[in-house]
Amino acid sequence: MDHEIAKLEALELERQNDGIELIASENYPSMDVRAAQGSIFTAKYAEGYPGRRYYGGCEVVDQVENLAIERCKKLFHVAYANVQPHSGSQANFAAYRALINPGDKVLSLTLNDGGHLTHGSNVSFSANTYSFVFYPLGNDGHLDYEIIKQRLYEEKPDLFLAGYSAYPFAIDFRKMREIIDAYNVETGSHCRFMVDMAHIAGQVAAGKCQNPCDYADIVTSTTHKTLRGPRGGIILTNDPDIYKKINSAVFPFTQGGPLEHVIAAKAVVFKEDDSESFREYFDRLLENTKACNDELARLGCNVSGTENHLFLLNVLDSFGINGLEAQTRLESVGITTNKNMIHGDTLSPKYTSGLRIGFAAATSRGCTKAQAVQIAGLIDKALKEPNADPEPFRSEVKDIVSTWTDISKLSY
Ligand SMILES: *Cc1c(COP(=O)(O)O)cnc(C)c1O
Repeated sequence: MDHEIAKLEALELERQNDGIELIASENYPSMDVRAAQGSIFTAKYAEGYPGRRYYGGCEVVDQVENLAIERCKKLFHVAYANVQPHSGSQANFAAYRALINPGDKVLSLTLNDGGHLTHGSNVSFSANTYSFVFYPLGNDGHLDYEIIKQRLYEEKPDLFLAGYSAYPFAIDFRKMREIIDAYNVETGSHCRFMVDMAHIAGQVAAGKCQNPCDYADIVTSTTHKTLRGPRGGIILTNDPDIYKKINSAVFPFTQGGPLEHVIAAKAVVFKEDDSESFREYFDRLLENTKACNDELARLGCNVSGTENHLFLLNVLDSFGINGLEAQTRLESVGITTNKNMIHGDTLSPKYTSGLRIGFAAATSRGCTKAQAVQIAGLIDKALKEPNADPEPFRSEVKDIVSTWTDISKLSY
């Protein structure tokens, strides 16, 4: 046993168990997912795809990967799935490659309004390979389909991209498809439609929002956010020709050997999520997120409202402090969040005016609606009195988490 790493693992488990985790992109995988991820499949090289590998000895991992693919297709009601991407960013890298050529134009959400680094940031491969142009949110912070339509006709992109990291409202994928189809017919263009559902994949799996697979040419996702699986990515499509391009874009273009141990863990979570208990989890998650948002609003805070697993709290307007100060203060009392740009933000990404708050992880541990309301009160009080002794807050946090399941013992 490696004592140094064992000690750090114990410390991390303690940190996670003792705190209230409200980072919207985090969640706790089950013991079964973690066991699969720690399995002997990690020792196997399997470059290629089931039945078409570049190595011998793949007859068992072929079954693992085929099982993951079949379960994934069933969960998302989609015809084709590639389960090899090592992460959401890797999935996006391969998806672009499958749909467009270097230098082609992509229309994506203004990054400060909730886009992801891989959606056209200058510090990412995306903006260095493709030409990104952007559509903003409407004045009320919601997607404005008239603006999207206008930007499409102005920019004539080769690809339209939807799917966000900090957008708290429902997305009308059907309407986006209609706008793109009408544009393509009218102008004789071939604009493609890609959805990155990294944040809302669990909501899609639970059937609690529109399924982008019904409308987009390609759908990418992470598997570790609301899906509650191992850290990883997937790419989905209903088009057999695009599927072929996806496969060669993942391997050999962007990746080498697949992580078959992670693919085994993906197979486990795709089955866990295809259940009544996951759909009930998602109802509780939506209810908790809304309860916390609504209680903060009742206390006089400027919150975004929510139709999914997250919302944005404007801390500059609510408490006169920036996002970094708010994040640091909450961390000192045992509540983990992250600073986030909000629509029309006047501060830089280093500071921001907002906090992003999500209940996916807390709900997995057993957070109740009453506790979500209590947590709103704690956040409000801790940020209203930024210099007050953190100890009383910390002990209230301890009381709440003492009623929750130990993270190392979760099974769903
Ligand atoms: C989290 C996220 C990703 C990237 O996932 P990684 O696994 O961290 O690479 C991509 N797109 C969106 C919208 C995300 O929120």
